[in-house]
Amino acid sequence: MEPAGTIAALALAGVTPDQITHVVLTHMHPDHIGGLYGEGPTFPNAELVVPKLENDFWSTQDSAAYKAKVAPLIDKARQINAGDEILPGITAEAAYGHTPGHTTYLLSAGDQRLLLTGDSFNHYAFSVSRPEWKVLYDNDKDAAIVTRKAVLARLAADRIPFFGYHMPFPAVGFIADTGEGSYRFMPATYQFSV
Ligand SMILES: [Zn+2]
Repeated sequence: MEPAGTIAALALAGVTPDQITHVVLTHMHPDHIGGLYGEGPTFPNAELVVPKLENDFWSTQDSAAYKAKVAPLIDKARQINAGDEILPGITAEAAYGHTPGHTTYLLSAGDQRLLLTGDSFNHYAFSVSRPEWKVLYDNDKDAAIVTRKAVLARLAADRIPFFGYHMPFPAVGFIADTGEGSYRFMPATYQFSV
């Protein structure tokens, strides 16, 4: 993704890039960093927040996406660790496996919570109903399976709503436990009480 797509999506929400104060990365796959940098920084007033482990990894790889999108911004970026409250009510959590520093973020406000799951599970059917299946894009496939199972079990047990980057519209919903280590995506649109 290039910045134009990100800017167009923000415009639909009535937001201009200069209004963005923070950009927080779950990980540094190309489809998650492509909007950061074009002719210059896409978000000129924003602080970029990145998991330190993730940057440690990608900065040593021959990654064209990292070099084009993150490298120009990294000197001014804030590098964070799992467990850090990166902003009031936003806590970084380790979710390693998909990438070495893949990080989820728990948003809390009063008794309300929302988990940003990044790419902990990528497909709304396969990854959720069969979390033990290995995924092509997972860097450490066994670690990713452990993380995926843990994230899904927690979402189901605690009934935490989540936002998943690759989930179908509206990408926000819940995870229902269907038994024997298998789960189902329940889009928020079908939650009539929300
Ligand atoms: Zn990814």
